[in-house]
Amino acid sequence: MSDTLLEVRDLRVEFRTRDGVAKAVNGVSYAVDAGETLAVLGESGSGKSVTAQAVMGILDTPPARITGGEILFKGRDLLTLKEEARRRIRGAEMAMVFQDALSALNPVLTVGDQLGEMFVVHRGMSKRDARAKAVELMDRVRIPAARERVGQYPHQFSGGMRQRIMIAMAMALEPALIIADEPTTALDVTVQAQIMELLAELRRDLGMGLILITHDLGVVADVADRIAVMYAGRIVETAPVHDLYKEPAHPYTAGLLDSIPRLTHKGRELYAIKGMPPSLLDIPPGCPFHPRCPRARDVCRIDEPPLHEVSDERGSACHFWKETLHAADS
Ligand code: SF4
Repeated sequence: MSDTLLEVRDLRVEFRTRDGVAKAVNGVSYAVDAGETLAVLGESGSGKSVTAQAVMGILDTPPARITGGEILFKGRDLLTLKEEARRRIRGAEMAMVFQDALSALNPVLTVGDQLGEMFVVHRGMSKRDARAKAVELMDRVRIPAARERVGQYPHQFSGGMRQRIMIAMAMALEPALIIADEPTTALDVTVQAQIMELLAELRRDLGMGLILITHDLGVVADVADRIAVMYAGRIVETAPVHDLYKEPAHPYTAGLLDSIPRLTHKGRELYAIKGMPPSLLDIPPGCPFHPRCPRARDVCRIDEPPLHEVSDERGSACHFWKETLHAADS
C-alpha cells in the first residue's frame, strides 16, 4: 500500500493585481511520503511558497485564486473541504515553520503561553499541564534551561532559539506533515546547520513528512531525500537528491549547482545565471527559462517542454535534457 501523505496535482494559482493576472503556480504536481523530506527549491517568485500556502490553506483569497488542481492529504482533497475542517487539520495534522520567527510569534505572549495554547485549544488540557508540555517541547528542541525560560518573551531569545521555538510549535501536536518555508535564511551558517539537523532528527523520530522550501541548494544536500526545482510557477526538475547533485538534467539546475561556492573551485570565478526570473504577469512563451538558458534553441522559444521522464524517479522539463545530463557526466 502507498504511504503517500500529500499529493499536489496540477495546482494552479493566480493573483489578480492592478497590472493584470500574475500566474504564480502553473500546473505544479508533487508528492511527499510519510517519513520523507522533499526540498522545493527556487528563486523568489518561483511559486514555491505560494504552493505551500495553498497546501496549508493560508493563501489570501483574494487577491489569490486557486484556478485548478487538487491537494490530496491522506487521500482527501483539501480544496473541497470547508474552512472549519481545514482549520482542524492545520496545526494538528499539518503545520508550518516560517522564515521569520520574530514576526510569526506573538510578541506580547510568553513562549510558554504560545506553546501551551496548542494543547489547551486542540487537546483540552489544563493550563498547568499545557505549561509542563511547553517545557517538554523546549527541551526536545534543545533550548537550554527550558524550565527557567518558559516564562520569557520571544524577543528575549536569539534568532536561532526563536526558530527552535517555531519548530517546537509546529511539532507540538505531532502532525503528519511539516512545511518549513526558508527556515534558516535569517540565521548564520553554523545555526543554519543546527536547525537543519534538528528538523532532520525530528522527521526521523516522529516519522513525519517534511517539505523544506529553500532558495539555497547548498543547505538541503544532507537532509533532503528528493528535490523539486521550481521556475516561473512550474516544476522544471525533480529527482532524488544525490542524482540531482551528481547529474542535473535541466540547465537551470545545472546553473544553480555551478553557482554554489566550493573549496575545490578556489580561485575560480563563481558562475551566475544571467538575467532575472520572469515577471509572473508576462511569462515568456515556450520554455520560460529560454531568455536565460545557455542551451536555448529556436524550439525553446515556441514549445513549452513537458516534464520528460528521465527515469522512474526523475523528471526534467527541458527539450534537451539528455544533453544536459551528459554534459554533467563529462
Ligand atoms: Fe534551455 Fe531549451 Fe531546455 Fe528550456 S527547453 S531549459 S531553453 S534547453
